[in-house]
Amino acid sequence: MEVTSLRFRENARRALRDPQLARALRMVREGFQQRRAQAVANLPEFEELRRIGAGIRDHVLERLDLYLEAFERRAREAGAQIHYALDGAEARRIVLDLLRSRGVSLVTKSKSMVAEEIELAEAIEAEGIRRVETDLGEYIIQLAHEPPSHLIGPAVHMTVERIARLFAEAHGTEPTTDAQELVAQARRVLRQKYLDAEAGITGANFLVAETGSVITVTNEGNAELTQGLPPLHIVVTSIEKLVPTMEDAFTLLRLLARSGTGQEFATYTTVLTGPRREGDLDGPEEMHIVLVDNGRSRMLGSPVRPMLRCIRCSACMNHCPVYLAVGGHAYGWTYVGPMGSVLTPALAGIEQTWPLPEASTFCGRCEEVCPVRIPLPGLMRVWREEAFRRGLPPATQRAGIRLWAFLAKRPRLYRLAFGLAVRTLGLLGRRRGRFSRLPLASGWTSVRDLPAPQGRTFLEQLGRGR
Ligand code: SF4
Repeated sequence: MEVTSLRFRENARRALRDPQLARALRMVREGFQQRRAQAVANLPEFEELRRIGAGIRDHVLERLDLYLEAFERRAREAGAQIHYALDGAEARRIVLDLLRSRGVSLVTKSKSMVAEEIELAEAIEAEGIRRVETDLGEYIIQLAHEPPSHLIGPAVHMTVERIARLFAEAHGTEPTTDAQELVAQARRVLRQKYLDAEAGITGANFLVAETGSVITVTNEGNAELTQGLPPLHIVVTSIEKLVPTMEDAFTLLRLLARSGTGQEFATYTTVLTGPRREGDLDGPEEMHIVLVDNGRSRMLGSPVRPMLRCIRCSACMNHCPVYLAVGGHAYGWTYVGPMGSVLTPALAGIEQTWPLPEASTFCGRCEEVCPVRIPLPGLMRVWREEAFRRGLPPATQRAGIRLWAFLAKRPRLYRLAFGLAVRTLGLLGRRRGRFSRLPLASGWTSVRDLPAPQGRTFLEQLGRGR
């Protein structure tokens, strides 16, 4: 997937003109925010749980090498095979080699953001292997040939009418907007695919070092069928998904469901330890776990390391005024919303993604709701500073920031300059009481009027009152 984050502003402008998207995003706001608030209100120890959750993630990140070794050892003992991939190309090669060498012609796949990140789906199809997404949202966007627009609701940007048209075309049925009927159609198609597939690919929500287990969470049960029915199961995940113990995993699972969907626990939480053993009724004959780095080791030693605590719950985007106005596609890559504005520059490079850290009002809501207390606005500021150092913002913006920094370090001059500017603007705008155009503030005045200043500045009034 091409990174189009550099075109964020253009993408956002297009999104803002789309009334169907606005309708879909209203549902995200109303649905997810209310359900999370209710779930949090029902759990008095939620704040304490957040503190513990952040501690677990930080502890793992400090000793990631040790936990990776422990996980590898336990997973091998349980019969799984472990592969390390330094980047997306290596991960794709490992997966394609496995599929080719087993003569796979049809693969089922459940939701995996890491697979999305490394463009696995495109690589599988380029190899001539059929791929069927089994998560309902992913199935819908596969039919639409679109990338996901949300971490846990990949098709949240679509209206039911659009889905009805897609299904009618793909299934040869009469268009219907009856949600039950649409789900039933998808189920009928997918059931047969589960049985026919020679391989299943899943992601992982957590990897448990003490047992070598992979934990997946869904509300549809599709990951279970994807990993349990075909003879070959491939897990594609990233190295930071580790947790030390099963107890730690369940602490984070309590936070994950409440923060994302507002559930106490997801409908299906599956712990898979190795492939099928003698006497097991089901399960894959082979299990391979591909641990993808793709820039995470670099992040460990950088100021944006806290971003690796993320458990992909989606709460930050569900509460972000920018995401809720422009949707996920505007962000131009796999990860969207506030977490995407920090993670995407870390993985794809700030030069490729620079406006993303500016896609924030810095209201701080994302940090408030993050179950592992990631300081998202602070991390976006890290990227803004880096972008400034590299000269990425426009020259006028950089000059403005330099001027402001110069004045801010000289309080007397600052007061004098702003007092003068305020009085000049007050005089110029006296007649109309507002400005519809202002050369150095065109970003503001192109979409709204700027009220003309009246009276004295705040600092002057504060000084007077003393
Ligand atoms: S940054 Fe926090 S709120 Fe956002 S997806 Fe990650 S864990 Fe959830």
